[in-house]
Amino acid sequence: MQYHLEGYRSGDPSLEEAQSSAVSASDTVDVLIVGAGPAGLTLAAQMSAFRNIKTRIIERKPGPLEVGQADGVACRSVEMFEAFGFAEKVLKESYWVNEVAFWRPAGENGLVRVDRIQDVEDGLSEMPHVILNQARVHDFYLDVMHNSSHRMTPDYNRDLVSLTRGHGEYPLTAVLKLPGDQTETISAKYVIGCDGARSAVRRSLGIELKGEAARQLWGVMDVLTVTDFPDIRLKAAIQSADHGSILIIPREGGYMVRLYIELDELSEDERAADRNVTSEMLIEKAGQILAPYSLDVKEVAWWSAYEIGQRVCDVFDDRDGPNGKQSPRIFIAGDACHTHSPKAGQGMNVSMADAFNLGWKLAAVVQGHAGPELLSTYSDERRSKAKELIDFDKDMARLFSAKPETPEEAAQFQRYFQKHGRYTAGVETRYDPSLIIDSDANQSLAKGFPVGMRFHSAPVIRLADAKPMQLGHALKADGRWRLIAFASSDDEGLVTGQISKLCAFLQQDPTSPLCKYTPEANDIDSCFDLRAVFQQEHARMDLAQLPDLLLPRKGRYGLIDYEKAFCADASGRGDIFEIREIDRRQGALLIVRPDQYVAHVLALGDFDDIAAFFDGFLQTD
Ligand code: FAD
Repeated sequence: MQYHLEGYRSGDPSLEEAQSSAVSASDTVDVLIVGAGPAGLTLAAQMSAFRNIKTRIIERKPGPLEVGQADGVACRSVEMFEAFGFAEKVLKESYWVNEVAFWRPAGENGLVRVDRIQDVEDGLSEMPHVILNQARVHDFYLDVMHNSSHRMTPDYNRDLVSLTRGHGEYPLTAVLKLPGDQTETISAKYVIGCDGARSAVRRSLGIELKGEAARQLWGVMDVLTVTDFPDIRLKAAIQSADHGSILIIPREGGYMVRLYIELDELSEDERAADRNVTSEMLIEKAGQILAPYSLDVKEVAWWSAYEIGQRVCDVFDDRDGPNGKQSPRIFIAGDACHTHSPKAGQGMNVSMADAFNLGWKLAAVVQGHAGPELLSTYSDERRSKAKELIDFDKDMARLFSAKPETPEEAAQFQRYFQKHGRYTAGVETRYDPSLIIDSDANQSLAKGFPVGMRFHSAPVIRLADAKPMQLGHALKADGRWRLIAFASSDDEGLVTGQISKLCAFLQQDPTSPLCKYTPEANDIDSCFDLRAVFQQEHARMDLAQLPDLLLPRKGRYGLIDYEKAFCADASGRGDIFEIREIDRRQGALLIVRPDQYVAHVLALGDFDDIAAFFDGFLQTD
């Protein structure tokens, strides 16, 4: 973490200096976020990073979430939390899913463990798959927002009742209902509906969630229980002979456990509420499935009953206006545009990923750094991923609910689970070529960084202070593009080397994106953050020989930023060049998006291509 750039400040370094003009209560904003669930809070946390963007987030409920809802946090989400600066807190509080057990019927009335497997395959992510109450994830985002210069907090007790699009600089008008029949009207440039499965924003656009009607009824409860079931502290999928299935998710804190319990199929037009499910019914059913093991529930912390519905909207924005195509101004994210069963533990993760995808794009367009066409990539990219998730979830839910007639059928679920481990970890997302994802023509230069996929972190040593660290952890959620240059084997950063030539191009050539798109008053790395990784052992490198751009002078004192250069880790933790298959002879340049997706792989000297890539969507103010 870097701080004191603008002068020494005592106290908590994560608490930024507050801006004098508060956005809260302003009736004219750049960005209005509706709903403070995982999607809305991720987006708000991202927008709070931009001092010059006025954002408000409104929420119908009277205060923050306290119990229940989702709890599965995929590896990719923890990587994202690292970018927001709170992964450590999550890792400390959460349950870590290391192994999964599979149980099925045995003999007359028995159950037997048939397998116990590793949950996440080795090397998939430097972060684990964890379980943590959604409310705590919300808390951490709320801290990020509050610590920002905006001191942003959700405006609770505000229910969006209408949203219309007109003309002008602030074309969107949102009418909110407050307690006591008061109303408030907000004008905005952009509105994002993160308002859940019954989204009012989606309704205002006339867009529908499409898909199969939900038929399977499920119950979920968080309980404190005494049991003799041996795998109660492992994630466990249990298929009984006659009473259905249960999924055990151990919870943070060491004592609580979540039970997902299969209930009946609903008939046509029947809703979960019609069944009058009670927590007592869930406890009884769970006991039947787990028999002959005992289940003595001492306390139910939270419970719910719901139907599985796998639905997705055709489009996640308002590009199709009443008069034809238009630049999108209204977006929907999270459950507002896709719903799925919680079996694969994806709801919160995918919703946050939607918001992370959209946030930096909105910031770039609001600040005038990119044209509005950038915003259309949000729906294109995230809709296709949502569609994939729905297909995956259908298979997963079907296999989970299927009553296994033979050991082979029971084993099917296990195999499916294993095969799709990468998918549920959230690291399989691959965006198609677009304005902001180039072709993979140079993929052979860095095979382990597939174009379109998230930057897969690996260990490095920071050159200036010899700190062993994950390179991916240098990529913060600050809206900046990353240029990550992997030096060729003979390059030590001297003026004759390719890294130096790249720096000279970036810093001096009028066609370079740094020269063209970085506002003059800003620090040199305010839009493009160059990092270089050398193959040499760090102790043998001469820091003083590095080009200026790798030791940039910043802030009001012109202090030197020493955190731009790294070396491969020779200590045995893993050499990034080897594990990510980087061409040692030629090196490689990665262009990485602000949401950490690899947009382009180039040769270090492909200056024209670097310029052309950014010219495709960036603009000068
Ligand atoms: P949400 O978390 O639904 O957040 C939407 C927010 O918008 C809410 O806070 C809501 O109050 C607010 N809002 C709605 N309408 C308006 C309006 N008009 N004006 C202002 N604010 C509005 N997933 C699992 O994996 N496991 C589970 O057991 C599980 N249980 C769930 C139980 C419930 C009751 C719910 C609602 C969801 C559950 N989920 C579960 C799903 C998971 O919580 C969601 O996938 C995830 O929260 C989606 O995040 P989101 O931000 O898109 O939407």
